[in-house]
Amino acid sequence: MSLDIDYYELLEVERTADDKVLKAAYRKLAMQHHPDKNPGCGDSEARFKAINEAYDCLKDPQKRALYDRFGKEGVRGASNGFGGGGNADFGDIGDIFESIFGSAFGGRQQQRGPARGADLRYDMEIRLEDAFTGCSREIQVDVAARCDACEGSGAKPGTTTHRCGTCGGHGKVRAQQGFFMVERTCPACQGAGEVIADPCGTCHGEGRVDRRKTLTVTIPPGVDEGTRIRLSGEGESGARGAAPGDLYIFLHMARHRVFEREGTTLFTRAPISFTTAALGGEISIPGLDGTRHDIRIPAGIQSGKQLRQRGAGMPVLNGRGHGDLVVQIDVETPTKLSARQKELLAEFRETETGEECPASQGFFGRIKDMWDDLTD
Ligand SMILES: [Zn+2]
Ligand SMILES: [Zn+2]
Repeated sequence: MSLDIDYYELLEVERTADDKVLKAAYRKLAMQHHPDKNPGCGDSEARFKAINEAYDCLKDPQKRALYDRFGKEGVRGASNGFGGGGNADFGDIGDIFESIFGSAFGGRQQQRGPARGADLRYDMEIRLEDAFTGCSREIQVDVAARCDACEGSGAKPGTTTHRCGTCGGHGKVRAQQGFFMVERTCPACQGAGEVIADPCGTCHGEGRVDRRKTLTVTIPPGVDEGTRIRLSGEGESGARGAAPGDLYIFLHMARHRVFEREGTTLFTRAPISFTTAALGGEISIPGLDGTRHDIRIPAGIQSGKQLRQRGAGMPVLNGRGHGDLVVQIDVETPTKLSARQKELLAEFRETETGEECPASQGFFGRIKDMWDDLTD
């Protein structure tokens, strides 16, 4: 098909159109007639070539002047005369398009063939004890796995696929998005570049079927809330034999009845009796692996004081050593006293001088001074 139409008519612009108008008109028409958008349409392809030819001429002021005076022959003669230049050869539409829009595509054909399978997420809750020692868990996941009947090809066993007409086997088509051109996975072949004439009966041409898989997850010591474990290749199988995605295990920590955790530090609050606080003593805290940690309480300890047991905390993930165990002391005031205990405490009070509790003495001393000043 020959399109011997005037360049201005082809681009649907006035003969006086400036560069901006030309460019806009060209973009619009190039988009409209791009062969990827009009698969198998010979007319569209011819028009697309003609539009490119027209724009290539008119965007160049020198060529445009020649065209205005002498028509196409003038331009052709000039090109030859000046040694050519520009996109004179419209052999490969893809190449022309790229030379015009350049890097807007971000490289071409890096990913030919069907898309890799999707990555999957699996949420797993584990106990703090398991995070401490590390553990191994079996999980069951339903994932799209390669179809055995067609070996993942999607074609009925014994048949083959043929080249996709929409994308010409590239697996991608181009489309306008705002001002830019973007490459998209071909909707006709889902990026495979090939279409199946006779689909496999087992997977209906998908090349994969849903299957329940049992997997073993190895959880290393020291994992924490949000730690991800990647099981390479255990995600969704790719369409028609493409590489599978990965399976990510997202870990969540179950609440522990004794410990809270901050990184590798284990934290707990220990209420102790006021007698232990006054006289000193020892408490035992079990580690998460069952180790017994004896923690000495110094005589006269106050509420809120934190005692640190080095190396008794969580292990460092993928590293060496452990964090600390921090025990915060809360002195508990007795609320259930026997008559005898009350008697003893009353007796104790008789012996108090105020020196036993210097902080209290200091505070009430300041209060007294304040009263004295206020009532002077
Ligand atoms: Zn295609
Ligand atoms: Zn199949």
